[in-house]
Amino acid sequence: LSPVPSDIEISRAQTPKAVEILAKEIGLLADEIEIYGKSKAKVRLSLLERLKDQADGKYVLVAGITPTPLGEGKSTVTVGLVQALTAHLNVNSFACLRQPSQGPTFGVKGGAAGGGYAQVIPMEEFNLHLTGDIHAITAANNLLAAAIDARILHENTQTDKALYNRLVPSVNGVREFSKIQVARLKKLGINKTDPSALTEEEMRKFARLDIDPSTITWQRVVDTNDRFLRKITVGQANTEKGCSRQAQFDIAVASEIMAVLALTDSLSDMKERLGRMVVASDRNGQPVTADDLVLTEAGFGADIGMEKFFNIKCRASGLVPSVVVLVATVRALKMHGGGPSVTAGVPLKKEYTEENLQLVADGCCNLEKQIQIAQLFGVPVVVALNVFKTDTRAEIDLVCELAKRAGAFNAVPCYHWSIGGKGSVDLAWAVREAASKESRFQFLYDVQLPIVEKIRTIAQCVYGAKDIELSPEAQSKIDRYTEQGFGNLPICMAKTHLSLSHQPDKKGVPKGFILPISDVRASIGAGFIYPLVGTHTSLPCPSLSPGVCSNSCPFSP
Ligand code: ADP
Repeated sequence: LSPVPSDIEISRAQTPKAVEILAKEIGLLADEIEIYGKSKAKVRLSLLERLKDQADGKYVLVAGITPTPLGEGKSTVTVGLVQALTAHLNVNSFACLRQPSQGPTFGVKGGAAGGGYAQVIPMEEFNLHLTGDIHAITAANNLLAAAIDARILHENTQTDKALYNRLVPSVNGVREFSKIQVARLKKLGINKTDPSALTEEEMRKFARLDIDPSTITWQRVVDTNDRFLRKITVGQANTEKGCSRQAQFDIAVASEIMAVLALTDSLSDMKERLGRMVVASDRNGQPVTADDLVLTEAGFGADIGMEKFFNIKCRASGLVPSVVVLVATVRALKMHGGGPSVTAGVPLKKEYTEENLQLVADGCCNLEKQIQIAQLFGVPVVVALNVFKTDTRAEIDLVCELAKRAGAFNAVPCYHWSIGGKGSVDLAWAVREAASKESRFQFLYDVQLPIVEKIRTIAQCVYGAKDIELSPEAQSKIDRYTEQGFGNLPICMAKTHLSLSHQPDKKGVPKGFILPISDVRASIGAGFIYPLVGTHTSLPCPSLSPGVCSNSCPFSP
């Protein structure tokens, strides 16, 4: 239809197929799905066991050039590409999108279900709650945060014996250790399984975590862009007797539990990773983990992009990517070429609505750099030019030409937003051809390198920085994590996605900059170290801010 109706109108004009029928059509057995309403379901892990002998399919990553704050259509291209592959090329293919965070969904971004005739339906259910996983993650995350503060309070106010009795309650006159408690005793060098056999000293060691409040890294989370929660004071009531401290909220999808969910492959692996999450250090500098809090509740149920996907996700899953689909728009390239700033809610200036080949040509440096980044990993790149109605033929041809000259395997315009899957058939053919080549995938760095070297490698090879600069805080955290034995984890950089550098207003391909690392945190359970770059924040602001993330949170691999 022209003009293309709004996303919600398109979504509501469709009657989604009952999910049981869809599941049957794609070859799932009835007991392999868990149904949420009429049109949503989760797939049970038993499917992995049933299909374990089947060879892996082709694995395609959709990434993008450095975007404008409006989003250039990664989700939309993903959906359009799968529509084209499935309906027009008869290839059995699946899109894998993460549930959108409500922060940006209620903010400027609007949604993360794709758009136009290339979107996930029912769109509002997908954008708002889906199967409730983000709420479950929020609940599990905040339960752990509450347990940490409650534990400090109890340790400050109770005797060793009282603490011990609370941790190992008597049921019908019998006290028993849980498996996790036995493991903790072992870690403390106490090889006993009978609670009555502990000496007073052993009881004290077991009952007291002796958390150093200044080292707590586990934060509360909320899935709303509420900037006033970035720094708060907890424990102000009289009953919290002297335990008040400065803390902060992060956006829910930045929770390590979300990362664990995205990286895990089974329930037992998830439990193990959740248990390993480091929440603070004790007064001797030893890491305190979620398991140490004997906390048995857990999240259940799931970038700035490609670099994290390859170095963290592919390392964890062992899966080898076949193709990168790099989404570009004429709009974003013009912005990189020196066009006026693009602000959500403000109409686009004429540079963006009228043909301007010079701006496009100048901005293609960003596209070229992104192609080079993918090539560092040895994966072929297909550029998907997501066409907007104001793009002209000459602009479209110019981008495709320059992308191929920069080393892309192919570059094609796509029209799925305005006409659905058939608008991306050329993209589907190009991806299929690229996927038929042998992948020469390689990681960017060896995880055994020191943390600083890994950060420097990403900063220099991926972002194009001259060097990095560590704040004293970042240096001391690196020293601490290295001492604690966590030096050999991959790195998940928390940096603005609006520039290759740490400064969102530096467009194109910034050069010669020193990347400031203000802090370093660790997600031991999920299995990565995450440096905070510059003033990047882990709780975005509802007005557009550098920290805004959608279905691809800068903290989440
Ligand atoms: P990303 O995943 O890169 O953040 P999305 O796919 O969510 O971007 O798209 C951002 C917004 O832009 C959505 O509202 C979508 O409907 C809209 N959009 C995407 N492609 C087009 C297009 N070709 N023409 C018009 N609007 C588009």
